[in-house]
Amino acid sequence: MTEVVLSIIGTAQDAGLPHPNCFCKNCREAIRNPKFRRLAASLAVILPDEQVWHLIDATPDLKEQMARLQMKYQLEGKLMKSIFLTHAHLGHYPGLLFLGREAIGARGIPVMAGTKMKQLLEVQAPWSQLTKLGNIDVQEIQDRKAVQVVPSVTITPVYVPHRNEFSETFAFWIEGPNKKVFYVPDIDRWNEWDQDIFAVCKKADICLLDGTFHSVKDLENIGRDYREIPHPLMTETMDRLQDLTEQTEIYFTHLNHSNPVLDTEQQVRHELEAKGFHIAEEEMEFKL
Ligand SMILES: [Zn+2]
Ligand SMILES: [Zn+2]
Ligand SMILES: [Zn+2]
Repeated sequence: MTEVVLSIIGTAQDAGLPHPNCFCKNCREAIRNPKFRRLAASLAVILPDEQVWHLIDATPDLKEQMARLQMKYQLEGKLMKSIFLTHAHLGHYPGLLFLGREAIGARGIPVMAGTKMKQLLEVQAPWSQLTKLGNIDVQEIQDRKAVQVVPSVTITPVYVPHRNEFSETFAFWIEGPNKKVFYVPDIDRWNEWDQDIFAVCKKADICLLDGTFHSVKDLENIGRDYREIPHPLMTETMDRLQDLTEQTEIYFTHLNHSNPVLDTEQQVRHELEAKGFHIAEEEMEFKL
């Protein structure tokens, strides 16, 4: 059986860590210490034996993420076979521009996107230049319709509620020959979704969930009100999923610069780990 590897290549909220124009404790540490930096949330599915890979979300950090991945898996010079997009926010699609004329000048990279996202990429500049010049070939994907990426791997989009200014937002099921992964980097609230997060995670072997904010206190520290922040809090997610940690590996990703769990010395980080939850880290990999 061909080996299928899911590699975590970014774990930060859209703007990354350090966050622009921020000098909070975490951002200062990230400016000073490269090991503390985090790139925007993204995943890669790699078939090392066949020397092919697929990308989930094209972040503003794409060029660094690509280089690290290509060097790690001896894929130098080999572009991704496809890109699946969750939605049209800063951390999730601007990396497509690196495929254009000013940079790589790619030819016909399949980009899998929802109906509104496809239209955005075809009609609105500068994205429309990528489609007109044939750098990318946008293909429409639909809620709960599985896409066969290679014979042993499917990726299935699932609608989730999120501030959808320009596009719909997807979570993805990524299923290999042995394991099922559920990936949801952005969602407004678990209770606004037509699916039950506990039941969904119960079906997965591994979950990579929206961990943007830790708690109401975390938000107070950056002067924001929870009611206007469209993300579930990690504290609520842990309460909902506490009984699953023995059977499902649950990781938090898409971490905001302000999140106290970024600091491994913090009590909240120890508590999270004691409860059986995990923080996603770049270069973590899972054999699917
Ligand atoms: Zn995001
Ligand atoms: Zn900061
Ligand atoms: Zn978003």
